[in-house]
Amino acid sequence: MLEAERKQGQFPLLEMSHLLYGGKDQFDKFLERQSFFDNHPMFKVNHDFYNKSRQDQILLNAERTVEAMKKLSLADPNYYTPNVLCPQGIFISTVHFAMVIPAFQVLASDDQISKWMTSLKNFSAFGCYAQTELGHGSDVQNLKTVAVFDKQTSEFVIHTPNIEATKFWPGELGLYCEFALVFAQLQVDGKGYGVHPFWIRIRDKETHKPLSGIEIGDIGPKMGYAVKDNGFMSFDHYRAPLDSLLNRYIKVSKDGKVERQGNPKVGYGSMMYMRNILCDQYTKFGGRALAIAVRYSLYRKQFKDDNKQEIRILDYQCQQQKLFPLLAEFYACVFGSVKIKELVNENFNRISQKNDFSLLGLTHAVLSGAKANYTYFVSNCAEWCRLSCGGHGFAHYSGLPVIFFEMSPNITLEGENTILNLQLARYLLKQLQHVVQKPSAVPEFFKFLSLETAKVDDVTTIESLITLLGLNCANLTKYAAQKLMSHPDMKESWDTKSGIALAKAASTFIPYFNMLCFLDTINNKAKETKEILTVLARIYGITMLLNNMQGLLLKNQLSSQQIKALQDTRESLYPIIRVNALCLVEAQGLSDNSLQSLIAPREGDVYMNMYNFASKENSLNKQQVHNGINYIQKMREVNAKL
Ligand SMILES: Cc1cc2nc3c(=O)[nH]c(=O)nc-3n(C[C@H](O)[C@H](O)[C@H](O)COP(=O)(O)OP(=O)(O)OC[C@H]3O[C@@H](n4cnc5c(N)ncnc54)[C@H](O)[C@@H]3O)c2cc1C
Repeated sequence: MLEAERKQGQFPLLEMSHLLYGGKDQFDKFLERQSFFDNHPMFKVNHDFYNKSRQDQILLNAERTVEAMKKLSLADPNYYTPNVLCPQGIFISTVHFAMVIPAFQVLASDDQISKWMTSLKNFSAFGCYAQTELGHGSDVQNLKTVAVFDKQTSEFVIHTPNIEATKFWPGELGLYCEFALVFAQLQVDGKGYGVHPFWIRIRDKETHKPLSGIEIGDIGPKMGYAVKDNGFMSFDHYRAPLDSLLNRYIKVSKDGKVERQGNPKVGYGSMMYMRNILCDQYTKFGGRALAIAVRYSLYRKQFKDDNKQEIRILDYQCQQQKLFPLLAEFYACVFGSVKIKELVNENFNRISQKNDFSLLGLTHAVLSGAKANYTYFVSNCAEWCRLSCGGHGFAHYSGLPVIFFEMSPNITLEGENTILNLQLARYLLKQLQHVVQKPSAVPEFFKFLSLETAKVDDVTTIESLITLLGLNCANLTKYAAQKLMSHPDMKESWDTKSGIALAKAASTFIPYFNMLCFLDTINNKAKETKEILTVLARIYGITMLLNNMQGLLLKNQLSSQQIKALQDTRESLYPIIRVNALCLVEAQGLSDNSLQSLIAPREGDVYMNMYNFASKENSLNKQQVHNGINYIQKMREVNAKL
């Protein structure tokens, strides 16, 4: 049924696939891993999964992790793509590999690395990242767990002084891990040295029970993340050995002398690792949702045209308005994430090879903004895709709810998005100061901050859109700076007077950055690829401007005529996307098994799929008369007495 749609595509599909995966090699590897999942019975589409209890879902996920590990190295971030293929639950060990090991690599001394790294990598030492507490998450400096140095025994006494200091949320803590990287306030001789990580055994090697002095458990059901054992943990004067403190940047000697060394800023490195994965790999879940919604919108027909032919819902302009700007945003975020990955790698190389920290601030700022922007995008995209599929989008068999549930937490974890935007705002303000005082110090990506006006003839070209998005962000940054400075107490002003303006300014930076990356990607591509990407880039740029143009309006730099031109142009581009929509989502190369959607197969009868699932696979129907019927009789009796 969709073959005709496929033939309409106006660009070489394979070139687009390579662009989306960062090259031929990566795409081929992706297909190879996908075929492993497609051909393994344990990973066959199974929508009855959602009828299972959480206990059973957890066990099935554990079995699946074992099978996945036989083929895939989960220690290699490039292999995180399998998670994209297995959205019924993220595999066990992702926190260990993506958070614990990177933190270890950055914060542990060479001796500690040689002692632990092999067992960390081969999984014989399995740990969680225990930072967040009941009372504090984002405010890491204010954590309450203490690690008090005992001079008599040269040990640290790890203690939870009150309920709010209970570690809460760490993934893989509740049921599984044997070790934990515990973040606690270091105290030596009554003096506080701030929060530092301690690598400690928390469960017995033989029995797997929590060690004496430690209480551990799972925190309970959540919105999604059913298979992840996010846990709680408290310590009652638990004694940890001297070398449990990861001591690359701070050392405590046997007799209690404290010595700081090196640049502690490098601690940002481990956070960058996971944030980079969130940008690079998890953004692909937006594309998965779009693949489902676009295909379904081609299968689904509602109402008839003048020739009494039923209309595919993707032909409605309103449906295109729901999906096409998101499709453009997906491509923009993917191309942006490629640049970010390069930046993160370059920063790591400079630090590790030359002790050169010159890229750290820039990388941290861009990555903070991108993590916030991309995770909001994926969650928003999943929700709009669900809405675009009407009733069926609400059912698990559509494959859409799980994307929303599994991806939404990414807005909160690994740096809460508002706080990350505020960190980017701080960097923007610093560069704004440089624009006036030391223009040569402003990195290329932030030169736009010197823009005061923009002369553009046609507001809808890619180049004009880049200029206008830059000017918009520059105006909002200046506005936020004025607000901040208009209050005598800077800290109070930041927290209570200018937070909205600061976060707003920061949120408009990544659209500008993404457009630069989009333009970079378009250059030197084959004619047809270039044409369709140009259309997507223009839709993306226009949408970002229409959604967030306050910066230009503040200075009357966008007329009502220009706004109208933006709207009209975007609508005029939709028919081109309509013709290419299926190919644009299919360029991701996702198999039916991988999409896990009954409403969006490559070819097939979606209604038969749904009917078959409901009538044959839905285990709730296995019992012809359900036990719940007894309560109906009771309800009748209660009602009769009213
Ligand atoms: C699924 C999931 C998995 C997790 N896994 C782990 C894990 O493995 N290990 C771990 O240690 N933790 C983990 N966490 C915890 C997570 O890291 C924290 O929840 C996160 O850092 C946010 O902190 P918080 O909960 O304290 O939110 P808060 O900081 O309390 O945020 C609540 C609200 O207050 C606002 N806010 C707070 N401070 C400011 C400010 N200064 N300015 C403006 N607004 C502010 C925020 O924007 C937000 O709207 C996980 C969380 C989830 C949901």
